[in-house]
Amino acid sequence: MTVHTTRMLIIGSGPAGLTAAIYGARAGMQPIVVQGLQPGGQLTITTDVENYPGFRDVIQGPWLMQEMQAQAEHVGTRMLWDTITSVDLSSHPFRAFGDSGDVYEGDTVVIATGAQAKWLGVPGEQELGGKGVSACATCDGFFYRGKKVVVIGGGNTAVEEALYLTNHSQDVTLIHRRNTLRAEKILQDRLEANPHVSTLWHKKVERFLHDEATGALRALLLTDMITGEQSEFDAQGAFVAIGHAPATELFKGQLQLDDSGYIVVEPGTPKTAIPGVFACGDVMDHTYRQAVTAAGTGCMAALDAERFLAEREFEAVKLAAAAG
Ligand code: FAD
Ligand code: NAP
Repeated sequence: MTVHTTRMLIIGSGPAGLTAAIYGARAGMQPIVVQGLQPGGQLTITTDVENYPGFRDVIQGPWLMQEMQAQAEHVGTRMLWDTITSVDLSSHPFRAFGDSGDVYEGDTVVIATGAQAKWLGVPGEQELGGKGVSACATCDGFFYRGKKVVVIGGGNTAVEEALYLTNHSQDVTLIHRRNTLRAEKILQDRLEANPHVSTLWHKKVERFLHDEATGALRALLLTDMITGEQSEFDAQGAFVAIGHAPATELFKGQLQLDDSGYIVVEPGTPKTAIPGVFACGDVMDHTYRQAVTAAGTGCMAALDAERFLAEREFEAVKLAAAAG
């Protein structure tokens, strides 16, 4: 068992964690990043990224994350291959315990464990990822311009995704398992008023069907929840929008989580209720959930961590001076 000590312990290696690492390392905080089971985070499971600033041409998600990691290491970050299984944020230095048996002690902790889209878990869904099935309209909607697309779900996310997709497609269908939406009234009103969105109620998706020739999504097999009747619905793009699950199990009982499980931070900052513990990226943000916003809040977390330590050290110097 090894004990690793650092001024800045970063849990998670997506855009939020790696950006925090770049800023932390450049501020001399010698950060450690514990990478978790998905080194590089969610962007490593996608292909084309067209909305990360700085690249005129389409770039690949895994490549972008390799570059971020290389930059973080170049400026002095230690990347460690481990997964945190529990944390103790009740005393200082904060402690995190790895699956490997190693212990991590941080003067500050930056939580960047992200969130994962929930999936339906039906046949064809994972196989057609990147070939018609997606969980992010903002990321992938552009690839379906002029095509027939569906959104599955009935919450705010589903309605927002359906409305967003009308920027690219004039044929958007929202498929929901009931006939009432959870989405806020204002969003429902916008949906109803939009001539490019239709709704299919009481429909359960049984499987995603592919085109034999292209291997891409061709249709969805649906079951009517009232009659039990099955039908095929043609679509070239399907966006699953049934919620996200933030990776916050570890922090239950130690940090305040909202009703959906996201870490609660002081509005407009990455500060949790525990001084010295910061949260950034998708783990604290159920609204924007983009690589660039994750990177932005990662930067904020590192800057705040640095300020926290500077203030603590200044107080310690003052106390020592007062004690003579
Ligand atoms: P994540 O990327 O989710 O990273 C979380 C990290 O935490 C991972 O490294 C994981 O291993 C680690 N972790 C989790 N638990 C633990 C633990 N217990 N111990 C240690 N580490 C842990 N956004 C865009 O801006 N443009 C796009 O084109 C785009 N396309 C997307 C396509 C897909 C298919 C998906 C799923 C998402 C896409 N996104 C896109 C969204 C973007 O990927 C996320 O907003 C972003 O990755 C969030 O970054 P993050 O660092 O907060 O978390
Ligand atoms: P959500 O509110 O939990 O809604 C999930 C939707 O998916 C529900 O309609 C649910 O159906 C459906 N669903 C869940 N599992 C399903 C399954 N296996 N098969 C088919 N349908 C399934 O999730 P969300 O829309 O992602 O929102 C999450 C949180 O973020 C909410 O608090 C929301 O308000 C918030 N949010 C806010 C904004 C905003 O303020 N602009 C935007 C996005 C999200 P049922 O209704 O039948 O359960």
